[in-house]
Amino acid sequence: MAVSFSFSAIVGQDEMKLAILIAAIDPSIGGVLVFGDRGTGKSTAVRALAALLPKMRAVVGCRYGCDPSNSSSSCEDCAALRSATNAPPKSHLVPVPVVDLPLGATEDRVVGALDLERALSQGVKAFEPGLLARANRGFLYIDEVNLLEDHLVDLLIDVAASGENVVEREGLSVRHPARFVLVGSGNPEEGELRPQLLDRFGLAVVIKTPVDLAARVEVVSRRDAFEQDAAGFTEKWKKEDERTRRRIIAGRTRLSQVNIPDAARERAAQLCTALGTDGLRGDLTLIRAARALAALEGDAEVTDAHLRRVAAPALRHRLRRNPLDDSGSSVRVDRAVTELMGA
Ligand SMILES: [Zn+2]
Repeated sequence: MAVSFSFSAIVGQDEMKLAILIAAIDPSIGGVLVFGDRGTGKSTAVRALAALLPKMRAVVGCRYGCDPSNSSSSCEDCAALRSATNAPPKSHLVPVPVVDLPLGATEDRVVGALDLERALSQGVKAFEPGLLARANRGFLYIDEVNLLEDHLVDLLIDVAASGENVVEREGLSVRHPARFVLVGSGNPEEGELRPQLLDRFGLAVVIKTPVDLAARVEVVSRRDAFEQDAAGFTEKWKKEDERTRRRIIAGRTRLSQVNIPDAARERAAQLCTALGTDGLRGDLTLIRAARALAALEGDAEVTDAHLRRVAAPALRHRLRRNPLDDSGSSVRVDRAVTELMGA
């Protein structure tokens, strides 16, 4: 496997880094949408984060990389193996997968293909797993998600939300675990996502080419240093990456113990009401993201400070266009936060 750029060495892009850290702590948040110009290294942060995560234990020979210690989320093959041998299956350590979904991928390639002919002639359920199988327990990255067909985006979000891929053809069906963090990138100038789809993504972040001269110089010099000597570069950032890794592991264990006081729930509701977001998905995501952030920071309960930091990524893509207010959605969220919680 090629060496990934170090997560800690990414200059700026703080909101993007925070968003994928939060999604890694609590994948139920529902994926991250990244808006930005071409060449801003949108996929770098995802690959860097996946490379930083601890290797995962997976069942040897399982096509879905099932977790041997979690029988409730295992595939049919692993479940059968388990009941036949009555022992935990053999396992090995594998890197957290990052799967790229190329534009123009067919539905079969994405969800997997059922071989109906073999099923009819030989009576076997022949299933060729797709990209969703490979992404199980990792990340699924879609470049230019706004150019993907709507029905495919819909399907991906459904699978990401349920953690299971179900393929049905002519009365035959196959299901397998497919828990992954969906990361979609989009170029705002090329086609828009329907609002219904936008709303289904958990977080949305905006990254820009740095305008600050020093930051620009730093981005280029680090990239250059990495390309000259990847091993030396990785070594230099190892300590910092290790610290982030420990924060993620601790955050995941702490997540379920983080307290959400009623005051924080009310704050989230007030903020969403002030912004006029449709439905309750905004409130829910805002609270979950704030909880994941608290877990990441080692805090025992959700406070205004957490809500404030995740408000823009959790809400900016859920705002209706207001013809009387031309300011961008990030500005509108910031303004509502300030009005509610003070500057
Ligand atoms: Zn399995």
